[in-house]
Amino acid sequence: VRYRAALAASGVDAVLLSLGPDLTYLTGYEAIPLERLTMLVVPVTGEAVFVVPALEAPRVQPGDLRLEVWHEPADPVAIVAGLLGDAGVVAIGDQTWSSFLLGLQERLPGRRWLPGSGLMSELRMRKQPAEIEALRAAGAAVDRVLARIPSEVRFSGRSEAEVARDVIDLTVGEGHDQALFWIVASGPNSASPHHEPGHRRIEVGDLVVIDFGGRKDGYCSDTTRTFSVGEPSAEQRDVHEIVRRAQAAGRAAVLPGVTAESVDRAARSVIEEAGYGEYFIHRTGHGIGLEGHEHPYIIEGNRQVLEPGMTFSIEPGVYLPGRFGVRIEDIVLVTTEGVEELNRAERGLVVVE
Ligand code: ZN
Ligand code: ZN
Ligand code: ZN
Repeated sequence: VRYRAALAASGVDAVLLSLGPDLTYLTGYEAIPLERLTMLVVPVTGEAVFVVPALEAPRVQPGDLRLEVWHEPADPVAIVAGLLGDAGVVAIGDQTWSSFLLGLQERLPGRRWLPGSGLMSELRMRKQPAEIEALRAAGAAVDRVLARIPSEVRFSGRSEAEVARDVIDLTVGEGHDQALFWIVASGPNSASPHHEPGHRRIEVGDLVVIDFGGRKDGYCSDTTRTFSVGEPSAEQRDVHEIVRRAQAAGRAAVLPGVTAESVDRAARSVIEEAGYGEYFIHRTGHGIGLEGHEHPYIIEGNRQVLEPGMTFSIEPGVYLPGRFGVRIEDIVLVTTEGVEELNRAERGLVVVE
């Protein structure tokens, strides 16, 4: 119903969704990304039809959608074209194979084609209660992983890849359906925000950035802490404290009615005032939900006004090339009163062995 209203307001006559989370959002179904066309056809008025290949039909729970099962060797593009009738403006999901779009354009010349993402992100950005519940559970699960790391994961003398393996096991062990990513960046590698864990042996004196997350009941988690292997140097401690204060300032700036960029500014200004502004080389955060990165992006220039139900990361960092880096990341939820933290693990610099 929300979707139809958004559609009518946007001036689009029909929306087509094939692969990816936009389809999952509306149908609960995850299409297999193969060459056989799966497509939800939603006209602004009239019946929504879900076109699915016969061999995948048993996986679909159509709910109140009419299922249109196609059998090989039928041409599913012709079926979708027929369903579109005289719709003049058609929005199509961003993650649709271009071969299908090209086939539709050939059959239906003179239509206007728009990306489906704009419309969908407007909906997906504002989470429904069940989505918030799933994000809370995913956040609590990675918090439990972080709490177990100091006592259960050995760092010094082991490779980043070995520590990453432990992080993956804990992520699944704490109730995720799958681990999605596992950055373990030690020593000088911690100055690379998206470092891929490798064979470097972790030593006493290293800072180790661990940024990881998974998927639980369809929704994503994403959190980062920086650990010190043995006692940190004064400089490591100082930089960590600056990032900790920046991240706290970002969380404190979250309120309904403020802009996304104001949260970026709140976190960034702490790092700039401490003299490390040029070493904070990425945006402050990203939305999270069915996808690990989605709207709203917490970045300079994004005037998107925050509303209750939006969920995103706050993850400032300082990266000193060739030396070390620090990042702290939590997911937050905008509420009517302000903010709810979906990650609450210890944010001080924890010493590990
Ligand atoms: Zn990242
Ligand atoms: Zn992350
Ligand atoms: Zn993130």
